[in-house]
Amino acid sequence: MRQYSRYIILLLAFFAGSSSTISAQKVTEPKTKEEWSRPYEPFRIAGNLYYVGTYDLGSYLITTTKGNILINTGLAASVPQIKHNVEKLGFKFNDIKILLITHAHYDHVGGLAEIKKMTKAKLLVNENDAPVLADGGMSDYALGIYGRSFAPVKADRLLHDHDTINLGNMHLVMLHHPGHTKGSCSYLFDVKDEKRTYRVLIANMPSIIIEKKFSKETAYPNIANDYAYTLSHMKKLSFDIWVASHASQFNLHNKHHPGDAYNPDAFMDRKGYDEELNDLQKQYDQKMEEE
Ligand SMILES: [Zn+2]
Repeated sequence: MRQYSRYIILLLAFFAGSSSTISAQKVTEPKTKEEWSRPYEPFRIAGNLYYVGTYDLGSYLITTTKGNILINTGLAASVPQIKHNVEKLGFKFNDIKILLITHAHYDHVGGLAEIKKMTKAKLLVNENDAPVLADGGMSDYALGIYGRSFAPVKADRLLHDHDTINLGNMHLVMLHHPGHTKGSCSYLFDVKDEKRTYRVLIANMPSIIIEKKFSKETAYPNIANDYAYTLSHMKKLSFDIWVASHASQFNLHNKHHPGDAYNPDAFMDRKGYDEELNDLQKQYDQKMEEE
């Protein structure tokens, strides 16, 4: 009897704890790389678009006439770096009004819950990544095996393919590029400087992360078709400047060095984009041959 009541008390304590502190539950980042956490000097890419991420985790600040937009937050530990970078460029962290992501993996959304709390910005998320975001990555088809890999966060608005995100004078189009996650997406928009307008693509490159065959991926039955769609859609896009979720994907460190003068031309690199997509197409074709 005594043992039994102690069991009940433990159970009650467990449920009380789990219901009131969901965001405080254990978060385990599956792996991190040194260059993901290495601090990096923020800089102006083109017009009102700025790089505020770490050495390899791309975070982008877009300033507007009605507050600013932040795309991607890096790891949980990246938050102080991003805040520092935004402020170093002369902007207020609290002027971030909209938060966006390229996909719901812990290396891009690890700091999202905290930044949302700090800035009270609205979070707009592709409808297909919203459930994974809300459960801290547990329902991700590939990374779900690691359990909760980031603090869960709820979207304020769900985005559908080709939806426009408006803030002040800025208008971003969300392009659904599924495969890497079900709700991976890119953003297409114009920025301006003193000289001209640049069409910018913030690209989520469709890298493949599963070892098993596509047909064995029961948690994502449409995965092969989604990658095929994304590869063909991305090849057809037109833009002047492109950047991506990871600095390594668009060769940031060959194009820009800390302290360099403002030079948007360094990011006008259609060739690099096509090469990167061709590499990913090869990886996809090889995987399809194994089917
Ligand atoms: Zn990812």
